[in-house]
Amino acid sequence: MSPRRRLVRCPQCGRQSEWSEANPYRPFCSARCKQIDLGAWASEQYRVPSSPRDTAEESNTSAS
Ligand SMILES: [Zn+2]
Repeated sequence: MSPRRRLVRCPQCGRQSEWSEANPYRPFCSARCKQIDLGAWASEQYRVPSSPRDTAEESNTSAS
């Protein structure tokens, strides 16, 4: 039995990459592509509006 190489298309860049145990980034072709995808996902997930901190310094008042 010869191990058949299974190729998958990288969701990020569309390149053919090998789906194997040796590739921890599968289905991505490389760490970079995985990083990009995760980054995009994360930025979608944790999209926070840049709100001006107005109450941040309120609790920091030192009364005499
Ligand atoms: Zn890729």
